[in-house]
Amino acid sequence: MTDVAVVGGGLAGLSIAAQMAQAGHAVEVFEAGTYPRHKLCGEFLSPEAQASLNRLGVREKLEAHNPPRIDESVVTAPGGATDTVALPGAAWGISRYVLDALLADHARAMGATVHTGCRVSDIEGTLDTGFAVTHARGATTARVVVGAWGKHGIPDRTLGRTELTQPDPVVAFKAHYEGVIPDVIDIHAFPGGYCGCSPVEEGRFNVCWIGRRDRLKEAGSPEAMLQTAADANPHLAARLSQGTRCTDFCAVSQVTLDTKGPLHQDVCMVGDTAAMIAPLCGDGMAMALHAADLLAPPLHALLSGRAAPATLRTQYATRWHDAFDRRLQWGRLVHAIAFRPGVARAVTKALRLLPPLHRWMFRQTRGPLPA
Ligand SMILES: Cc1cc2nc3c(=O)[nH]c(=O)nc-3n(C[C@H](O)[C@H](O)[C@H](O)COP(=O)(O)OP(=O)(O)OC[C@H]3O[C@@H](n4cnc5c(N)ncnc54)[C@H](O)[C@@H]3O)c2cc1C
Repeated sequence: MTDVAVVGGGLAGLSIAAQMAQAGHAVEVFEAGTYPRHKLCGEFLSPEAQASLNRLGVREKLEAHNPPRIDESVVTAPGGATDTVALPGAAWGISRYVLDALLADHARAMGATVHTGCRVSDIEGTLDTGFAVTHARGATTARVVVGAWGKHGIPDRTLGRTELTQPDPVVAFKAHYEGVIPDVIDIHAFPGGYCGCSPVEEGRFNVCWIGRRDRLKEAGSPEAMLQTAADANPHLAARLSQGTRCTDFCAVSQVTLDTKGPLHQDVCMVGDTAAMIAPLCGDGMAMALHAADLLAPPLHALLSGRAAPATLRTQYATRWHDAFDRRLQWGRLVHAIAFRPGVARAVTKALRLLPPLHRWMFRQTRGPLPA
């Protein structure tokens, strides 16, 4: 029996795996995909992530990839309104191609076993009895299971977790462009969605748009949809003219912001598996890493025999809700505004006229900054 089975090797899963392995526990990660690979994400790593990266001890390895530092955020609305705000600390632009592979190497170096190409189909058990995890290569028993499979996964279904009540009308795409752009993150609103552009390593920039499924259907392809968006927003058109697409599009459907919660049938959920903040907030990666940091102390106490399952359940749930509930609510509001062009235009203008309001709103979606 392993101590911890981590289902999903994204940021949250690899972080908790590395921390538990470093603390001396036997850890196995089951990841459906492989490393390195492109993953849908805006790839804006917010300043709040730095504390977690420092704690993990991977900062130097990340800096070796020369990720651009991003100090400013620019929001533009259809019709031309713009607003610029200084970020409360430096963010990084780093691709998931690099970041996930780097964290997988780190988890292995700490002693975790990372199984790739190994999708989990079922989880059964409790913290009192132990768990059985069924996956592509058979079954593994574990004292604890950490759910880190992202927004949706087969285990949601087999665990009887909240299912989507209706198909979400939002889809997202991303691709890399070759070409150098300023070290800012731009968010360009267009009727039916918004598009983020930000620099990543190796002289590329990421273009990631999120929009309504019916608009994509009307346009016919991701490229045509992007062109329609650029026709509606001259700032986006100018940005896209600065580079040439050099990767295929990655896609994701069903971008839903439901909060499912940090525990279900005694499986401790981290990252998007517990809840996803609106992509517009650019904070999902920091929150995924932060959730692993919140789980690590009570999980270590349980595995060391210093705490009972009931303590883990209570402590993790309390810490998680204290850290994230308010941010998730604000994130949903910001997301709703972005999908209403008239409101987005009015809010962009108001924020430009009232910088303290902009800073205040911005802070509502954020976590603590590194000291
Ligand atoms: C359009 C869009 C743009 C975004 N932009 C940003 C941004 O700029 N900045 C930011 O901070 N956040 C952004 N986010 C959010 C961010 O991508 C997520 O919050 C973050 O990736 C969550 O990490 P995670 O570890 O929880 O999940 P993931 O990174 O999704 O990892 C989950 C892993 O689980 C694996 N998996 C799934 N099912 C199974 C299974 N059954 N068995 C085994 N493995 C499985 C997957 O292959 C995957 O590797 C964006 C999100 C979207 C949708």
